[in-house]
Amino acid sequence: MTGALLAQAYLALGGNVGNSRAILDRAVDLLCDGIEIRLKARSSEYRTPPWGFKYQSPFINLCIAVETELTPRELLARAQGVELQLGRDRAHEKRWGPRTADIDIIAYGDLTVDELGLTLPHPRLFERAFVLLPLAEIAPDRVIGGRTVREALDHVDTAGIERLLPFPSP
Ligand code: ATP
Ligand code: CA
Ligand code: CA
Repeated sequence: MTGALLAQAYLALGGNVGNSRAILDRAVDLLCDGIEIRLKARSSEYRTPPWGFKYQSPFINLCIAVETELTPRELLARAQGVELQLGRDRAHEKRWGPRTADIDIIAYGDLTVDELGLTLPHPRLFERAFVLLPLAEIAPDRVIGGRTVREALDHVDTAGIERLLPFPSP
């Protein structure tokens, strides 16, 4: 069943296994079909030091803004479907460890949800420069959890995060 209301949602993508830039590019394409999930904005890609579990390769991270009539649960199911398609193996991974593609819903409209399997806005957003930095590129004035993204970014350490240049178009 599809929700009737149009919502703007922000998603954070990350990965550090395989050719992450290509994989995340594919993730955006697979997720944003242009029909049920429409891509409205996309940040640059960033190379970021690993978070949580330190002894692993750097991550590539980016954020996107989408428009959708899907409910948050439906959107999450789509995102997890794309993670699976891109080879993510949840059963064998370590928490915050290496993965091909991770897609988190950062915010869905102004909705607050705290349920099993879905928390909105994303509960660890304000600790994560690797999310706030790309998000600030596409939505600096967006208020999430009572603060603008720009203001939240001022309170995290962005050391070691590097914005990557876009690939030249073919
Ligand atoms: P983190 O949530 O700290 O970024 P993670 O992305 O590595 O960690 P996962 O293993 O990808 O964690 O997801 C664990 C569970 O988090 C998922 O099964 C999903 O149901 C739940 N979850 C809760 N809220 C969200 C959200 N806003 N976006 C994505 N997943 C969420
Ligand atoms: Ca995550
Ligand atoms: Ca996740």
